[in-house]
Amino acid sequence: MELTERQARIVEIVKNSSPITGEQIAAQLDLTRATLRPDLTILTMAGVLEARPRVGYFYRDKHEPSPLLLRLRQLRVGDFKSMPAAIRANISIYDAIVTMFTQNVGSLIVVAEDHELLGMISRKDLLKAALGKTELQQVPVGVIMTRMPNIIMTTPDEPIIDASRKLVQHQIDTLPVVEAFIDEQGDERYEVVGRFTKTNVTKILVQIGTLGQ
Ligand code: ADP
Repeated sequence: MELTERQARIVEIVKNSSPITGEQIAAQLDLTRATLRPDLTILTMAGVLEARPRVGYFYRDKHEPSPLLLRLRQLRVGDFKSMPAAIRANISIYDAIVTMFTQNVGSLIVVAEDHELLGMISRKDLLKAALGKTELQQVPVGVIMTRMPNIIMTTPDEPIIDASRKLVQHQIDTLPVVEAFIDEQGDERYEVVGRFTKTNVTKILVQIGTLGQ
């Protein structure tokens, strides 16, 4: 498990002086209890710390993640992806804006005729073009898209945790889900088979959280 810097400091403190209360950890870090709460919750859920009511936190040497967490790590992008919202590179910026409204998405995947991944267009790319002097009806989206090889992708067999980490690290909303193929020149190319978005992640969380309610 990758800890954030603050989580690592919390673990160090608990290792050195358990049992220790949330208040005491907060005091050592010069932070409020409220600021620490999400970190303490995550560390406890992940099985790194154990919280005993009215005693405090303990470090768990051989920490076993909860069964729910183990299941979560097994979930794959392929089972949760959405249909690709794709357009061709030669359609106009104007038509891309209309497509974004009609398909009710925030990003569009730009593909070639054979569904090969060429690029991505987001809301802000289109807003930027609309603010400038660009002829929205004339200029094709291929001109303003973020293009390969700079596209961050995922594959159907990638764990959703890893794909979600890419969304967070790269500050993007959508990953094209691709399957690699080799073209006639022997180069690797990518066929778009879906999209994995922040909405997919949110839906997974809601579904798991409301199971059995
Ligand atoms: P928004 O426009 O709402 O900020 P994003 O955060 O998804 O949407 O996009 C930010 C920028 O990153 C845009 O310029 C977009 O073209 C680009 N982008 C979007 N998705 C990807 C991706 N999967 N890989 C690389 N760049 C991307």
